[in-house]
Amino acid sequence: MTVVFVRLPLMSILSDLSERVPGRTFGPGSPEYDGGRTVFYGPGDPEAVIRPTTTAEVAAAVRAAIEANQPISVRSGGHGSMPTTEGILIDLSAINEIAVHDGALVTVGAGAHWGDVATALAPHGLGISSGDTLSVGVGGLALGGGIGWQVRTHGLTVDLVREIEVVTADGAVVTASAESHPDLFWALRGGGGNFGIATRFTLQASPVDGMVGGHVSFDQSEVGAVLRAWRDITVSSPDELNSTLVVMPALMPEMPAGPQLAVALQGTEDELRRLLEPLLSLPSVTDVSLGPVQYGELLEEGPPGRPPFRFVGGNGFVPDVSDELLAAAERASASEVPTMVMLRALGGAFSRVAPDATPIAFRDAQAFFIVNRLMPADTTDEQAAAVQAELDGALRFTSGRYSNFTDTFGDAVLETIYPPETLARLRRVKAEVDPGDVFRPPHHLTPA
Ligand SMILES: Cc1cc2nc3c(=O)[nH]c(=O)nc-3n(C[C@H](O)[C@H](O)[C@H](O)COP(=O)(O)OP(=O)(O)OC[C@H]3O[C@@H](n4cnc5c(N)ncnc54)[C@H](O)[C@@H]3O)c2cc1C
Repeated sequence: MTVVFVRLPLMSILSDLSERVPGRTFGPGSPEYDGGRTVFYGPGDPEAVIRPTTTAEVAAAVRAAIEANQPISVRSGGHGSMPTTEGILIDLSAINEIAVHDGALVTVGAGAHWGDVATALAPHGLGISSGDTLSVGVGGLALGGGIGWQVRTHGLTVDLVREIEVVTADGAVVTASAESHPDLFWALRGGGGNFGIATRFTLQASPVDGMVGGHVSFDQSEVGAVLRAWRDITVSSPDELNSTLVVMPALMPEMPAGPQLAVALQGTEDELRRLLEPLLSLPSVTDVSLGPVQYGELLEEGPPGRPPFRFVGGNGFVPDVSDELLAAAERASASEVPTMVMLRALGGAFSRVAPDATPIAFRDAQAFFIVNRLMPADTTDEQAAAVQAELDGALRFTSGRYSNFTDTFGDAVLETIYPPETLARLRRVKAEVDPGDVFRPPHHLTPA
C-alpha cells in the first residue's frame, strides 16, 4: 500500500518529532534548520530538519516522519538534491566519521565530504576514487555512481563499495553486501535514494603513492585538434591515466576561454609528458603545469552554489568518441551564447565491470560527455527547447545518461538513465524493500 502524505500543522509536527528524535529536530529560524535546508541548488523550506548523529536516530526519524504523515527527503553533502519544499528533511551531515580498516577497507559516514575522506586517507597512502570536488557528499555520490580521478584505474565509486548500512522504509537497519541482501546492494549502487537511507559505506581504497598530474590550457585557435588529440591519447593510454577536457566559454576575464585539460597519472612525470605529447606539442598550448601531486590535491573547491543560468543541454556515456561527436562538440562550443563542453575519460576498469553488475549499465563507454549552454535565467521553455534541439545534435552520439549530473526528472528521463531491464529490476527491488513508496528522491522510481 502506498503511503499518502497529509500536511499537518507545523507546531504539532515539530513537537511530535522533537519527542521522537530529541535534541535533533530543528524548525524554521534555527541555524541547524538553515544549514540543512540550504543545498547547492538553493534554500528549501521543509517543515523540519532532523539531524541525527546515530543510525538509531535515523531509524527513529524515519518512523517519526512516517507516523507524522510527512514526506521524507535526505541530504548528505547537499550537492545533488533539489531544495526540499515539503515534509521532513533528514540531514546526515553529522554522520561523517571515517575509519580505516585492514586490507585498505574504509568505512565512511554518508554525511562526510569527499575532501574529508581524501584528507583522512592521505596519511595511510590511500585514496578512494570519488569525484573532482572537495565538498560533494559521500551519500549522494556513492549511491549514484562516482566518476572520479581513478575511474579508469579502479572503476566508479559504486564499484568500490563493499557494504552499505541502510535504514529501510520500516525503520529497520540492515547491512547490504554481495552476501547479505544482494538485490538491495545491487540497487543501491546506482539507483540513488529510492531504497532507504544509507548511513555508512564500506569501500575498497587503493594506494595513491606516486601520482603526477596538473593542467594544460589552450587558446581557442584549434579546438577541434585539441579534442581529437585528447581522444587519440585517451583510447590508447594505460588505465593509470585519467583526464578531463573542458572547453570553457569566456565567462570571466580571469578565466580565458578555450580547452583546459586536467590530468592525473599514477606514474612518473616523464611518462605523463610522453603520453600527452600529441597535446603538448600543439601550437595552441598557452600554459602547462604538470608535476607530482597528492591524490587530495586533485579535488577542487567547487562553486558555492549553482550559477544563475538556465542550463540547457545534457550528458551521456559515449561508446565511440568519433570524429562526428567531436565535430558536433566543437560546433556547440563555438556558439556566441556561452557553452561548456566536457569530456571525461572512461574505459579501463570502468569498462571491465559487467553491465548488469550495478544499475550503471553503459560500461562500454570510452568517455563521458556533457554539453551545457548557459542561458539567461529568464529563458522561456520555448527558447530552451530550440537550444536543446540544437545540442541534441551532439548528444545523439551518447547512450544512457548519468543520474548524478541529470537535473531533469520523470519517467522519460529514467528511461534514458537505465536500460529497460535495469529499470524493471530496480522497480522490483523497490517493490520489495519500499512497497509503500516512502522514499521519493528527485529521480524517483515507483515500485513495480
Ligand atoms: C560542483 C559539483 C561537482 C560534482 N562533481 C562530480 C564528479 O566529479 N563526479 C561525480 O560522479 N559526480 C559529481 N557531481 C555530482 C554528484 O555526484 C551528485 O550531485 C551527488 O548527488 C552529490 O552528493 P551529495 O551527497 O553531496 O548530495 P545530496 O544533495 O546530499 O544528495 C543527493 C540525493 O541523493 C540522495 N541521498 C543523498 N544521501 C543519501 C543517503 N545517505 N541515503 C539515501 N539517499 C541519499 C537523496 O535523494 C538526495 O536528494 C558533482 C556535483 C556538483 C554540484
